Amino acid sequence: MQIDPNARLFIAGHRGMVGSAIERRLRAGGYRQLITRTRGELDLLDQHAVQAFMAEQRPDYVFIAAAKVGGIQANNLQRGEFLYQNLQIQNNLIHGAHLAGVQRLMFLGSSCIYPRDCAQPIREDYLLTGPLETTNEPYAIAKIAGIKLCESYNRQYGRQYVSVMPTNLYGPNDNYDLGTSHVLPALIRKAHEARQRGDSELMVWGSGTPRREFLYVDDLADACVFLMERGYDGSLLNLGTGEDVTIAELARTVMDVVGFEGRIVFDASKPDGTPRKLLDVGRMAALGWTARTQLRDGIARAYAAAPFSATA
Ligand code: GDP
Repeated sequence: MQIDPNARLFIAGHRGMVGSAIERRLRAGGYRQLITRTRGELDLLDQHAVQAFMAEQRPDYVFIAAAKVGGIQANNLQRGEFLYQNLQIQNNLIHGAHLAGVQRLMFLGSSCIYPRDCAQPIREDYLLTGPLETTNEPYAIAKIAGIKLCESYNRQYGRQYVSVMPTNLYGPNDNYDLGTSHVLPALIRKAHEARQRGDSELMVWGSGTPRREFLYVDDLADACVFLMERGYDGSLLNLGTGEDVTIAELARTVMDVVGFEGRIVFDASKPDGTPRKLLDVGRMAALGWTARTQLRDGIARAYAAAPFSATA
């Protein structure tokens, strides 16, 4: 199936890394009627405002890339906000879309919804088979509720609301704030600044042994549009590359791309989080989609697009 180029597509969260990538990909795909709202124009925490917006705009398709997101420290410290704001945003959008008769919606979550110690690579059907990782449990609980809301509306009302769970993402418009960012943007910034200052060390949180998988955000956007165009009968899909690296290996690759030749020092006072988070991407591969961007190339592109790289 193809989407009508004149269909009305609403991207919630288009200012963020994921939403802006989806917007780029849709524009490149020739879609003409993209609906976006800034936070000032539409407060997604406000149920009445979101319902009124949906009733008035009646989009044909909705992408939910709006969420309160952050790295291990932000998730661990702002536990209340991560649970409350994510539940609120997704409830307003999913239920608001349903009330407005929207038939097709995509809900984006993250691979942290799966049990902390589940078998690797992680298959979609491992959801809710064990306890979650503590550092991001509030975020994960909210996202699991969103998956179940979509699934419930699919079963009860015949909606086609698909939840996609990407692995760790990176790319243009990432968050480079060291207190709240994820590991990859943090390491790019730290390596860049260390090189500029002429430091001899790069500080890496935790032990360096956890393994993570990284997907370039333009690949993610491509997968989302591919799925929306194709249509999908199921409720839950993993999106990743199927390959992971240790945090120490990642740090070395980042240092290499940035051109910083120091020593890595591990800060054991910071948490490691889940030991490993590698997605099984077999379902997407069976549908005919695989990620294109190699990690090193993606890091170079992300670095070139970083707000501080003009001074590189
Ligand atoms: P997670 O995938 O939910 O654990 O989130 P992160 O991307 O924030 O962290 C992934 C791993 O990278 C964890 O083991 C962190 O301790 C480690 N890490 C190493 N250095 C950093 C850093 O500077 N910032 C962040 N956020 N994580 C780091």
